[in-house]
Amino acid sequence: MRFDLISIFPDYFTPLTLSLMGKAEDAGLVTLAAHDLRQWATGKHRSVDDTPYGGGAGMVMRADVWARALDDALATPLACENEEAATASCRRVLAIPTPSGTPLTQPVVEDLARADQIIVACGRYEGIDARVAQHYRAAGVEVLEFSIGDYVLNGGEVAAMVLTEAVARLLDGFMGNPDSLVEESHSGAGLLEYPVFTKPRDFRSLEIPEVLLGGNHAAIERWRRDRAIEKTVAVRPDLALSLDAAALSGDDRATLAACGVAYPRAGAAERLTVRQAELEDVVAVSELAARTFPDACPQDLPREAIDEHIATQLSADVFDSLISDPERHRLFVAEVWGGLVGYVLTHVGPDALPSDLVRPGRVDVGNAYLSKCYVDAAWRGSGIADVLLERAVADAAKAGHRAIVLGTNRGNKAAQAFYKKHGFRKRSTRTFDVGGVANYDVVMVRDLTPTGGATLA
Ligand code: SAM
Repeated sequence: MRFDLISIFPDYFTPLTLSLMGKAEDAGLVTLAAHDLRQWATGKHRSVDDTPYGGGAGMVMRADVWARALDDALATPLACENEEAATASCRRVLAIPTPSGTPLTQPVVEDLARADQIIVACGRYEGIDARVAQHYRAAGVEVLEFSIGDYVLNGGEVAAMVLTEAVARLLDGFMGNPDSLVEESHSGAGLLEYPVFTKPRDFRSLEIPEVLLGGNHAAIERWRRDRAIEKTVAVRPDLALSLDAAALSGDDRATLAACGVAYPRAGAAERLTVRQAELEDVVAVSELAARTFPDACPQDLPREAIDEHIATQLSADVFDSLISDPERHRLFVAEVWGGLVGYVLTHVGPDALPSDLVRPGRVDVGNAYLSKCYVDAAWRGSGIADVLLERAVADAAKAGHRAIVLGTNRGNKAAQAFYKKHGFRKRSTRTFDVGGVANYDVVMVRDLTPTGGATLA
């Protein structure tokens, strides 16, 4: 790839001959050509600027001088033009640094790495006469007006070097170890990089995370991914909301949701809040409950039985009395901008468990009861259920319970796998009445004691 960097201070580009960039040039991977704009200027003073039309402070760089420089740069013969392949056509990009340009992001840089020649026109003073970009665009040249950040520099040289290095390091053969590019910030899904550590192991009482000292590669990978997600949400929430959803696993989504960002099945990500329900949520929760309950029912359960259950067990009145008694009933809701999308209901306290669930030696009378955990269809797989469940479990533990119990339809294998992932184990069975029809549940229990010493079978 060829870079033509045009400036009134071409010496600015000397550092590009150092380090990996210098090596890449020696190896013929890149050609770096720095040009002095004044060689295309005329007159005794070889002036490149003049006063702005319309008045105002500062000087503007002249279009005629720039056009002579750019015509020459665009006419430079390139290696790709000598290729025999019929498709060989050179891609030349005219890049103009300006604080009012398109942000130079990694996707933009990745695209530029496929060009054959990049010409960078470095402005000074108040910038370059606007007709330069206008003229070359109209002439069919690919013009990119780019900014390296929301601040103003004295000239485009630093921006030109930023672009040159960011593009060149993506070229095949540039990096000694191309794997270095794979997990970097802004690559892949678009996450920032996880924190990295090296020797010495002891540094001013700060420790290396334990997982990195063991050889469990899957655990290390997961730890790094989770830290990358946390960092991205904390530092760049804008990026966290615009990740490549196709590159996110279920575990990624669960971590994102735990950090307050939820990715739906389709459509844009949203900020997520999980909070205790309040009385003004009564109608919204009962509607959500009515929407979500049928999905968890067996296919052969009559619709009338489901409707009966919704009318009697999931009404606004029922939720009103539950929310009104937070000492015994704990209701947490998941909320996005569009409204409530999930809820979890637990019963805590000495009489939390329904009596039909108590099985001496298997399910203790004093355990907490996880009654419901539901998420709207559009948001399933987004990690919201994971966040709701963990919130309810932590809440039950905080209330002093040694274990939490739930019943889920025995045919609903997905729900059982979900609860198993969260530490629940099958302990028993029960029948569960839905609108007068008996359904068969498996009863699952999660130990909440730090040592796993709850009295479970
Ligand atoms: N008057 C211009 C404006 O307000 O947008 C600023 C001109 S600046 C002083 C001079 C030159 O520095 C620009 O023409 C551009 O080449 C370069 N420059 C300054 N800030 C830049 C940034 N954030 N990104 C890219 N180039 C920048």
